[in-house]
Amino acid sequence: MVVPDATPGEELICLKCGYELRGLTSRDCPECGASFDPDHISKHPIPWTMRRELGRFSAYWRTVWLVMAHPKRFCLHIARPVSLADARRFQWVTVGLVMIAAVVVTIVVSMHFDVRGITGNLPSRLWPLERLLSMVPPNSLPIVFNVLLVGFLIPATGMHTYWFHPSVLTIRRQNRALALSYYCCAPLAWASVTACVAVAAYLRRYLPDAWQTGALIAVADTLFIYCQYLLVILLVLWWGLPQLTARRAHVLGPFETLGLALGLPALWLGLAAVVFGAVPAIGFYASLLIHSLF
Ligand SMILES: [Zn+2]
Repeated sequence: MVVPDATPGEELICLKCGYELRGLTSRDCPECGASFDPDHISKHPIPWTMRRELGRFSAYWRTVWLVMAHPKRFCLHIARPVSLADARRFQWVTVGLVMIAAVVVTIVVSMHFDVRGITGNLPSRLWPLERLLSMVPPNSLPIVFNVLLVGFLIPATGMHTYWFHPSVLTIRRQNRALALSYYCCAPLAWASVTACVAVAAYLRRYLPDAWQTGALIAVADTLFIYCQYLLVILLVLWWGLPQLTARRAHVLGPFETLGLALGLPALWLGLAAVVFGAVPAIGFYASLLIHSLF
């Protein structure tokens, strides 16, 4: 069982084996021999937990940097209590940032492409999609997509946490590992910024002609292409970071980590199929049913 919250305190356990280290004068774990620095974590807390002192913006981006650029230092935090409530707030802020980017992208896409135009070329077996799209007012398609995306992102940014409380660990370590794992959605913060930069670069073509210099066109078009590569890299990092954290924080062995690496994309695909496939399909058939009644 996992206790829902951990209150930061002075408990200190070995990162590697979970041995109680409080009160020891030696800098080596008596159980497994791993060396530890009792002052490191109290001197370098997770910046997000210091948001009152640092300010929310700074605390958030410092945490993103810590998780992505210094995973080893980040994982040292399993030696002391980690607040699950803080970690969940970090997850919510990250989902919020992705949604801001998604709204920006869908507004631009719906302004410049006729989404319903694609249905004219659909094979006949996909007629339900055509019927579904014809029933939705064109302006509300981006809204429907973004609502479904929220329904996807909230569980998707927490699915890896299933692997972060293996019963072989003590409850105390499970709680810390679970809380730390919620920070693994950090790459999505950069993905949101990258998507917004890509949109800004794409919108270059709508600037007044006088501004369309060769240099601006070259920079904007290059930026647009590289932002797409960067987005793919960040999404791969979103997948890989839970595995790295699980290994660095000694939560999972190699085989369990492989299970996480293979299982997480499978869960994401299943979730996407439910949220973007089954939910609209149920809505479609429910509305057909209601239409047939009146
Ligand atoms: Zn140890």
